[in-house]
Amino acid sequence: MNKSLKAILEAGPRLAPGEVWLVGAGPGDPSLLTLQAVRALAQAEVVVHDALVDPRVLDLAPAGAERIFAGKRGGRPSPAQRDITEKLIALAKAGRRVIRLKGGDPFVFGRGGEEALALAAAGVPFRVFAGVTAGLTALLSAQIPATLRGINHAVVLATGHPAPDRPEPDWAAMARLGQPIVLYMAVRRLPHIAAALMAGGLAPETPAAVIAAATTPDQQILISTLATIADDAAAAALTTPAIVAIGDVVAAREALAPGACAEHDA
Ligand code: SAH
Repeated sequence: MNKSLKAILEAGPRLAPGEVWLVGAGPGDPSLLTLQAVRALAQAEVVVHDALVDPRVLDLAPAGAERIFAGKRGGRPSPAQRDITEKLIALAKAGRRVIRLKGGDPFVFGRGGEEALALAAAGVPFRVFAGVTAGLTALLSAQIPATLRGINHAVVLATGHPAPDRPEPDWAAMARLGQPIVLYMAVRRLPHIAAALMAGGLAPETPAAVIAAATTPDQQILISTLATIADDAAAAALTTPAIVAIGDVVAAREALAPGACAEHDA
């Protein structure tokens, strides 16, 4: 192994008994892990992981490490969030060295923030390690720049699945911003969201895309418009998880995709 790489992998904090590290696993492709994540996994005694985590990533934990599935996946039975945080706290209090592996970036949707808050409240020492977030990487995988000078000065990252006790997001306000909207957890509610954005003034012909299973061999890209994206997504029976992108930046794909190297070029 290259000396600098070895030095990076060997540096950094040690996972102590009773600690929980929240680690971002990225959107799917294991090579999108950070070196911090690789280093953290190598120190795991217990790995508590989401449904979206690639088995090859789990394999980076020591062979003897315990693996606990705590997946949450839209539309399927999954452990309650409270059970997951209680499990993390109990493992830490039992003196285990715990890695909590989360899809994407731990602090972008997906409840990592809540888990960290619960650990802090329980007095459990924790660290959080960044991951590549699905929203931005899904765009990149589809040859859609998140920002283009002259087209946008901001990007809205939003969830299509707000907490049940919270009001519906103000889609009209997002429409008025005129900036690209990148939606997590939005496919099931896409008919409602697209209608609400149009009611808020976003043009029906605004380019829109769904990028499913981004960075994995199952990746699917659907290009449409705001008016037709919900029907097109339903007709295409896209796989999950998926990111929805709405905005003029989506149109850049037409010029970029033909020039991009094929996925599996040697
Ligand atoms: N913390 C994660 C997001 C968790 S919420 C992150 O930073 O990426 C789960 C949502 O992320 C899914 O509903 C989907 O919208 C998105 N997602 C995760 N992995 C994805 C992938 N490989 N391709 C497309 N969307 C993905």
